[in-house]
Amino acid sequence: MTASTAAREQFAASYGREPEGIWSAPGRVNLIGEHTDYNEGYVLPFAIQHRTCAAVALNGTDDIRVESTFSDSQVVAHLSDLDGLFPTPAGETPAVPEWSAYVLGIAWALRMLRPDAPAPGVDIAIASDVPVGAGLSSSAAIEGSVASALNELWDLGLDPVTLAQVGRKAENEAVGAPTGIMDQMASMLGQPDAATFLDCRTLETRSIPTGFTAAHLELLVIDTRVSHAHSTGGYRERRESCERGAELLGIRALRDAGIDDLPRAAELMDDVTFRRVRHILTENQRVLDTVDALTAQGPRAIGDLLVASHASMRDDFEISAVELDVAVDTALAAGAIGARMTGGGFGGSAIALVEHDAVERVTDAVERAFADAGFTAPHIFPVSPSAGPRRDA
Ligand code: ADP
Ligand code: MG
Repeated sequence: MTASTAAREQFAASYGREPEGIWSAPGRVNLIGEHTDYNEGYVLPFAIQHRTCAAVALNGTDDIRVESTFSDSQVVAHLSDLDGLFPTPAGETPAVPEWSAYVLGIAWALRMLRPDAPAPGVDIAIASDVPVGAGLSSSAAIEGSVASALNELWDLGLDPVTLAQVGRKAENEAVGAPTGIMDQMASMLGQPDAATFLDCRTLETRSIPTGFTAAHLELLVIDTRVSHAHSTGGYRERRESCERGAELLGIRALRDAGIDDLPRAAELMDDVTFRRVRHILTENQRVLDTVDALTAQGPRAIGDLLVASHASMRDDFEISAVELDVAVDTALAAGAIGARMTGGGFGGSAIALVEHDAVERVTDAVERAFADAGFTAPHIFPVSPSAGPRRDA
């Protein structure tokens, strides 16, 4: 069953009528540019074919009611009470079930942005085929689907970049997850066959054709299905190291330094901070180089950049995991053009750029390597650059 059908059925079962419409938004994968977002640098993600669908209708009350195939419980909130629920105080969990804070948080953020809009009560049912917690941003997908639905039903006329900012606000302040804006921008601005180059400081974007299909290439996601416990602490520590590095260099953010500054950085800071900084500086350059390579030479030219990105995350930023290293090394040994871990690190997914004809060989090799190492069996599937939010029905 498609996510769209599942959302419609969930809506009908929960609310006893048909929805007014179904809106969907995609998950995303990051091709290159890891941990550069909060350093105000560059990223190159693309929206994927997996989507989250929100079946929605006005309900004639002042309540927002939320259901998801993800949860047994229905969450109901009076719209005027959202201001009392959010923002969630720093370090605390939301006062509503966490999954529903993504949805209620969107309604809250939209009402803050447009306090004079009527914004009447709605019933919402969510279903998704974006794997949750695999680093494919099921969170941006749920935010984007709900934001798109309410933007239309509440007649707000907001543009995709504003809706991306609404998604980030909901995630940061309602859910309480300190994330950047990459995921929401990638989801909102998705286009078939193209990645989104994003300057995380200026929010300028450029659509960069990937050319994967024409070149008979597939991008495989290798979801290791592991999440190591230190990921939250590890993320915070990396952010702190980057802030310290920028301060020692006397700049606002690491985005303001380039690889020419590395010798100076080496003098100014301890070894660990220096290596964190070196990852960010070289990774920003690799994003720019990937854009150039895709534009000038096509997708086969980006393999070495993906491999260098992985090495930098493994050795300098130290956010890889043994499962990710095995996935990358095995995919490369089996003939992948390039491979790297993707997402925040300490688990989650790797990606491998593979000739169409080599998909089975690479998949088998990685599955075998995981079995031999005694790891949990990975989920391996292709993703392709896909369109952003749309109304499906
Ligand atoms: P990722 O975005 O990498 O998948 P996150 O931790 O950022 O992981 O977001 C996952 C969370 O988003 C889930 O734990 C859940 O709270 C919420 N979520 C995602 N998809 C759904 C869904 N279909 N229904 C309800 N909640 C969802
Ligand atoms: Mg997320």
